[in-house]
Amino acid sequence: MIPADQEFPEVPIESSADFAGVPDAYQRLWTPHRMVYIENGPVTGEETCPFCRAPQLSDEEALIVHRGEHAYVLLNLFPYNSGHLLVCPYRHVSLYDDATEAEVVEIAALTQTAMRVVRETSQCHGFNIGMNQGAVAGAGIADHLHQHVVPRWSQDSNFFPIIAKTKALPQLLGDVRASIAAAWPESA
Ligand SMILES: [Zn+2]
Repeated sequence: MIPADQEFPEVPIESSADFAGVPDAYQRLWTPHRMVYIENGPVTGEETCPFCRAPQLSDEEALIVHRGEHAYVLLNLFPYNSGHLLVCPYRHVSLYDDATEAEVVEIAALTQTAMRVVRETSQCHGFNIGMNQGAVAGAGIADHLHQHVVPRWSQDSNFFPIIAKTKALPQLLGDVRASIAAAWPESA
């Protein structure tokens, strides 16, 4: 009689977590941070919303570079470019015209500071800034407002390959977070 555990030998679980830490060209994809998005699946409410969950984690875990009063700034887990930041209100609100005046004012101020800090830390040549409102407009997480701040360099014109996540980013997200957080001014 063969014991059950020999009859059915343990096989690796088909989970992306099993592959974490395997060095390859896509190392930046295998980070615990990324799993915050992937594990949550479709966003339906505050309980499953990564932008509601992120502030409950440490800055390092959530890739947060600055916490304000009504809004905070974090690195995008799916960056179009190295240093791609998102400015989010803490409140789970979908549309820009549903944000309060205090939220709008702070999102604007944090966007300005994000530009200054990223310009200083990355010597970028320009920015794409904006919000996708609704899934139809391209919002990956349409239920929670977020302003993109994407640094641009004159040589990075392959924008669509970047969106398709086929371009390897030169810096790992954790390193980028640390350098931006360190450069963020105390008063902003
Ligand atoms: Zn949310």
